[in-house]
Amino acid sequence: MLPPDEYARLRDLVLVRRDPAAIADYVRGIRMRMNPHPAGQMTHNVPRVNDAPLRGLQHKYDQTVLFFPSAGQTCHAYCTFCFRWPQFVGMDDLKFDARESHELAAYLKLHPEVTDVLITGGDPLIMNTRSLAAYIEPLLVPELAHIQNIRIGTKSVAYWPQRFVSDRDADDLLRLFERVVGAGKNMAIMGHYNHAVELRPDIAQQAVKRIVGTGATLRMQGPLIRHINEDPKSWAELWQTGVRLGAIPYYMFVERDTGPHAYFQLPLARAHEIFQAAYQMVSGLSRTVRGPSMSAFPGKVVIDGVATINGEKSSPCSFCRPVIRTGCASRFTPNSIPTRPGSTT
Ligand SMILES: *Cc1c(COP(=O)(O)O)cnc(C)c1O
Ligand code: SF4
Repeated sequence: MLPPDEYARLRDLVLVRRDPAAIADYVRGIRMRMNPHPAGQMTHNVPRVNDAPLRGLQHKYDQTVLFFPSAGQTCHAYCTFCFRWPQFVGMDDLKFDARESHELAAYLKLHPEVTDVLITGGDPLIMNTRSLAAYIEPLLVPELAHIQNIRIGTKSVAYWPQRFVSDRDADDLLRLFERVVGAGKNMAIMGHYNHAVELRPDIAQQAVKRIVGTGATLRMQGPLIRHINEDPKSWAELWQTGVRLGAIPYYMFVERDTGPHAYFQLPLARAHEIFQAAYQMVSGLSRTVRGPSMSAFPGKVVIDGVATINGEKSSPCSFCRPVIRTGCASRFTPNSIPTRPGSTT
């Protein structure tokens, strides 16, 4: 996945020179060239209380607070396209870690506008059920009645479905989901799926049924990745199988411009074509899906058309379309989008 010149140099260092210090040094340089901090994710939208930043929280949209429990900052999978790679290779020191769930609850009590808490990572379901419950149960108190949806972002549905079926505390996890539902809230599992093959194994299908059987909801989301899921048929099969089992198609994402993205990225116009082609293959029940959706500095934006400007295909997103209509012909990359007036970023 490296550019040929970097690959050749690294290969030489590893196989010929065999100098660990030189290898480490060269690898550090490669990582720094891979945009380890896209879209200000480490520094922006970190809420403050008494002027002190609350580590492990991110609050960008009024309704939704992101929470990064410290024990959930690794993952069952280490996807080569993961935008969290800097924390997995030790560059970011797992900065997004919240030590205590009481800080989260205290913050939410001050913010009645928040309806959703999204517990994310890494992968929060790397935690055992007892640790996860210690984060979730404080959210079920009457003072937090404004929290209507508790979401967990996870790859385990596809990569470690045993988490819901045969792990030692799989049943306890399902009971936890039932307690959230019993408290009158929506327990929303945001499942990361990339390809239809991930839902073919029997155990992956059982996991979906067991999650949905608790009264929780399961949504499916994942990035479009060149070499992996460029075929619209794989998306259509994924969404259709998910819907049959009780899951809800949610987002097709655009890869962020970090890591070995040159290997995975597709032109935005192509992403739009793939999304449209897949969308046309499925019935209305799968058309809850949105995309291609791109995380950019101003927030999530959806690519909703392809325009030809000066003879070149260009993909205006919903954010930039007004700009395009008035004659902007710049090439869009996630970091080049101007900040919208009044944006919360
Ligand atoms: C994606 C995202 C959310 C959730 O957005 P939804 O469209 O409600 O799923 C919340 N906060 C941040 C920072 C996000 O990137
Ligand atoms: S599953 Fe998600 S958090 Fe885990 S490595 Fe893959 S993209 Fe990253």
